[in-house]
Amino acid sequence: MRFLAALFFLLIAAPAFAHDVDLTKLPLGDGKLSAAPTVGQIWACRVDPNGGGAQVDGPWINKSAGTFDYTKKAVVSGQVVWKPNFVMSLAGDKRIFTSNDLPNHPTGIFPIQPSDLAYQTDRNPNSIREQSVTVTLPANPVAAAQPLCAPGAVGILLTGSVLFNALDAPGRDAIAHETQDSCQGHPQQSGVYHYHWVTTCIDDKKLADGHSALVGYALDGFGIFGRYGEKGELLSSSDLDACHGHSHAIPWNGKMVVMYHYHATWDFPYTLGCFRGAYDVQNVRAISGPPPQRGFGPRGGSGGFGPPPN
Ligand SMILES: [Zn+2]
Ligand SMILES: [Zn+2]
Repeated sequence: MRFLAALFFLLIAAPAFAHDVDLTKLPLGDGKLSAAPTVGQIWACRVDPNGGGAQVDGPWINKSAGTFDYTKKAVVSGQVVWKPNFVMSLAGDKRIFTSNDLPNHPTGIFPIQPSDLAYQTDRNPNSIREQSVTVTLPANPVAAAQPLCAPGAVGILLTGSVLFNALDAPGRDAIAHETQDSCQGHPQQSGVYHYHWVTTCIDDKKLADGHSALVGYALDGFGIFGRYGEKGELLSSSDLDACHGHSHAIPWNGKMVVMYHYHATWDFPYTLGCFRGAYDVQNVRAISGPPPQRGFGPRGGSGGFGPPPN
């Protein structure tokens, strides 16, 4: 009887945190914008309804079902190799990054060439350009009293390139609508190569306990980890808080420490839904590149570059 009770418990308890992912039916994030921290949504500081983006919906988007087929998305072709210059160092209670934003993996050919199939949905005219990024983050971040809204640029990944939030310029699901290369990156107007989720060109390594390894840092200093949770289970947004993270023991600066961290997921908003710790607007500007020139070119890059409106 006790065995049966235990079995029953296992049967109902085990699947609670286990999610299969169907990349052919990812939930479309359009409209999942909130004005306060909300699980599965994004609390963006700002969106520009007139911002640019992909010209037409790709055939992989199924608006009536509210899903998109990630496996059918157009991928910008090319295997362009860059010279990254990414240095991370610890100095006291600061973690300092310098980067030219060029990734440690090949990219597609940008601007998207008219001969590229991807051109039919997205004519991204921007080229990838070397940047000069310096970012200083707290090495031991602490949670703020209240979460903060997410600006357009939210972090830096260990590829050396920057992470933007899940939205394109007009506030739609950037993964569903924008066309990216095979590492899910592309440049915005000032040539900043960026992702809208954690690139699959970082191997999502599992640590000994099954939890994902670190893949980057958010601008509040907290770590961003891959898609696997504490028991090696695939996480979805519903397993995480509104900012897309949780707290438990993780390796941090060479020790195991119970602390907050963000996770990547396959489902919207993919990474940060808001900031759990305070961030410096200077760092947002540093990784966003020079301000986009309004009314220039047929498309924007990726939205809400700026700091909070106030
Ligand atoms: Zn975790
Ligand atoms: Zn983008």
